[in-house]
Amino acid sequence: MTFALFRTPLRLVALLLVSTVALSAQPSGPAKTNPRLPKVLLIATGGTIAGVQDAPGSLGSYRAGTLTAEQIIASVPELTRFAQLETEQFSNVPSTSITPAQWLALSKRVEKVLKDRDDLAGVIVTHGTDRLEETAFFLYLTVRSDKPVIVVGAQRPATGISPDGPINLLAAVRVAVAPQAVGKGVMVVMDDRIISAREVRKIYQRTGGFSGGEMGMLGVVGGNGPDFLFAPTRRHGEDSEFDLRKVDSLPRVALEYSYPGGTGPRYDSPPAGIAVASNGMTRAESEVYTALRRAGVVVVTVFAYGDNMSASRDPDAPRPEPRTDPRPVTPDSMRADSTRVPPQPPAPSMVSAQHLTPAKARILLMLALTRTKDPLEIQRYFLRY
Ligand code: ASP
Repeated sequence: MTFALFRTPLRLVALLLVSTVALSAQPSGPAKTNPRLPKVLLIATGGTIAGVQDAPGSLGSYRAGTLTAEQIIASVPELTRFAQLETEQFSNVPSTSITPAQWLALSKRVEKVLKDRDDLAGVIVTHGTDRLEETAFFLYLTVRSDKPVIVVGAQRPATGISPDGPINLLAAVRVAVAPQAVGKGVMVVMDDRIISAREVRKIYQRTGGFSGGEMGMLGVVGGNGPDFLFAPTRRHGEDSEFDLRKVDSLPRVALEYSYPGGTGPRYDSPPAGIAVASNGMTRAESEVYTALRRAGVVVVTVFAYGDNMSASRDPDAPRPEPRTDPRPVTPDSMRADSTRVPPQPPAPSMVSAQHLTPAKARILLMLALTRTKDPLEIQRYFLRY
């Protein structure tokens, strides 16, 4: 068969062409960079941006987390015009394999390298898109540095038709070296958008599928580079109180959903906290969560679509006077009172999240629980971050 293929010169030329294209798709060695350019460290975790198909150049399936960090940057020579890139392979997995233990390790690594290395302008984290918004938010809350940290992924594999990874990575590098990016917290750069990690969400699984919602777009990356229009005002970066250096594991926090006719969860061993996606609870759900709060579980309610602002109560706002019983005390009312079940002390308060998705409210609750179990204190964290 091979012999038959080589029989005509036309077929030989076609074969040579195919192998040249295939070879040029192979990663090359590190490209030469200008030593005057800013330094950026790329930490690769895996995902579709590192995905390779069985049939390259097709619409076919792929294995996420296959290319190494070095191979990813070697496939975009244009990067060398903007930065001197160094790489580190943190993991090479689909992001559904990323766990809270890895958030901890990644955050500690990013913070340490930014603190230890004055010469680094910023860090880029490549990541699968399924869990990208959670990892980005965790880093936003915990990396105590004002240097830019950019989280980037792709919706099409590296070997696919029109992959989006290379252009996203190029945009991420341009943001990481931009002086305007300093102090803006962790950002996600995808599809020419610069989105705050606090607000970013994956809304669909195609290119363009990362949104900042109503409040998260900080700017865009155009032909001339990044243009910032907005900055986050909630606490993050250098100002974060979440110092993880002595934290070895995160508290167990569940995520629940409230729905019409819902009766609330039952746990054999209750978690330390629960984030409940709810626009309003049924009576049965309320009773279950009240009992859990009495048992010491911190419960945070969060709008299912993440956009609630008005329900957050400021624990420091003046409280109404406690109501006194207006009924006159008579022998009859005293007899009736003596048969009543004594009233229970009020349950510890419910915490409400401000403009966060349920998954992100869960992350902030995990971090707040590393510092306190007092729901009023935790409410203050939800008002600050
Ligand atoms: N399954 C992939 C992941 O999250 C999807 C992606 O990267 O887009 O790792």
